Amino acid sequence: MRSLKVLILEDHPFQLMALHQMLNANGVFDVLTAESVDGARQTLSRRGRVDIAICDLHMDGQDGLELIRHLADSGLAAALIILSSAERGVLDSVADLARQLGLRVLGSLQKPACSVSLHKLMRRYLDEPGDSPQALAVPAHAELLAMSPAEVAQSKAQWVVHYQPKVGFDGAVVGVEALVRWQHPSLGLLNPGQFFPLIEGAGLLETLSWHVLDQALAFSAQARLDNGQPLPVAVNIAPLMLTRDDFAAQVVAALKRHDVPASALTLEVIETHGCQLDSNQLEGLLHLRIQGCQLSIDDFGMGVSNLQRLLELPFSELKLPSEFVRGMADDGRKAAVVAGALIMARRMDLKVVVEGVETVDDLMAIKALGSPIMQGYFIARPMAGQDLRRWMLEREPAEARLRRRA
Ligand code: C2E
Ligand code: MG
Ligand code: MG
Repeated sequence: MRSLKVLILEDHPFQLMALHQMLNANGVFDVLTAESVDGARQTLSRRGRVDIAICDLHMDGQDGLELIRHLADSGLAAALIILSSAERGVLDSVADLARQLGLRVLGSLQKPACSVSLHKLMRRYLDEPGDSPQALAVPAHAELLAMSPAEVAQSKAQWVVHYQPKVGFDGAVVGVEALVRWQHPSLGLLNPGQFFPLIEGAGLLETLSWHVLDQALAFSAQARLDNGQPLPVAVNIAPLMLTRDDFAAQVVAALKRHDVPASALTLEVIETHGCQLDSNQLEGLLHLRIQGCQLSIDDFGMGVSNLQRLLELPFSELKLPSEFVRGMADDGRKAAVVAGALIMARRMDLKVVVEGVETVDDLMAIKALGSPIMQGYFIARPMAGQDLRRWMLEREPAEARLRRRA
C-alpha cells in the first residue's frame, strides 16, 4: 500500500495497539497515535497533515466529535474513518455530519476492528478520487460578490455546458446530463454551487437554463450514438419555467432548430415547491410528453412536495440523488430508501436514474436491487463536450467487455 500517514485516536491502550499492528500489517508505518482529543490535536500540530484519521467516538472527557470538528476546521486530515461500538445508526449519522462539515469519510469500523475491513477502507482512499477542491462548495469569491446583475448577465458567453454520462447495467451509454459551468476568466471553472446564488440573485436562472438547453441540443445533434441517433440529453429546468405559457412551444422550437427528436430530450425538474400549473401549462407539458419528450423529477425525495408532484405531473422518470446512493453499500437505511423508490417506480412504470454512484461497492449494492440507469463519479465525472466524445470512443472496448460479462 502506497506510504500513508495515519493518525489513530483511541483511548483504549489494547485497541490502540491492535490497530497500530493492523496498519503495520497493511504496510502503513507512518502511524501517529493519541489517547485523547487534546493529544491528537497536539500530535497533528507537531507532525502535520495526515492522509487518514481513524477516530474513536466514545472516550472519557471530550468525545471523537470534537476531533472531527477540529479536522474539518483545520484541514489536517485528507480523509476520516470512524471507529466505535456505537449502534450503526449513530455511526451513519456521525458520518453524515462529518461529510456536512466537508470531510471525506471513507466509512466506519465497528469495534473490535478487523484487519480486512480496515484494509478495504484504506483501499478506498487510494482507489477512489476524492472531491477535487473545485467540486467542493467554496464561499463565493469577493470578485463575484462585487458583480452587478448587469455584469452577471454579460458573462453569458462564459457559461459552458459539461456532460455527465448515464449508463445502463450493461455499460452502454444511454444519454448524458447537461450541467452548466462558468468558465470565469480569472477564477477558473466554477460549479453551480459556487455561482448559482449570483445567477438567482440577478434573476437569470431561466435565461441560463434556456442557454443550456440550446447548447445541449446542438451537442446532441453532433454527438450521435453508434446507431446514428442523436445522443439523448437531459437538461435541468428551473421549476418556474414550467409556469410560462409558452414553455412547451419554446422547447418545441428549440428541438426544431437543432433537428433533434423530442424523444432525445429529458427535462429534469427539481421539487416544484409552490408553483402550480394551470390547465394550459399542463396541456403544454402533455404535448411534449406525447411527442416523446421525457420528464424527470430530479433529486427525488429531497423536497417535501415531491410525492404529491409525482402524482400531479406527467413524469416518466425519477432521479435518486447522491444523498441516498453514496455509501448505501454500508448503510442499510440508505439501501432501504433506494429499494423502496425502485419498487414504487416499477409499479408506476417510471424509469429510475441513480445519481452519485461513486464506488464499486455502491454499484454492486444497486445491482442487487434492480437495474436502474446509473450516473456518478465511478462511471465518469461531468466533462466538456469534446472530452465526452473522446471518452465514448475510448470506452467502447471496455463497454463491449462489460456486455460480454453481463
Ligand atoms: P443535479 O441536476 O441533481 O445534478 C447532479 C449533480 O451531482 C451535479 O452537480 C453532478 O456534478 C453531481 N454528481 C454527479 N455524480 C456525482 C457523484 O458520483 N458524487 C457526487 N458527490 N456528486 C455527483 P453540479 O454539476 O454541481 O450541479 C448541481 C446542481 O445544479 C444540479 O443538480 C442542478 O440542480 C443544478 N444545475 C446544473 N446545471 C443546471 C442548468 O443548466 N440549469 C439549471 N436550472 N440547474 C442546473
Ligand atoms: Mg439534474
Ligand atoms: Mg439530481
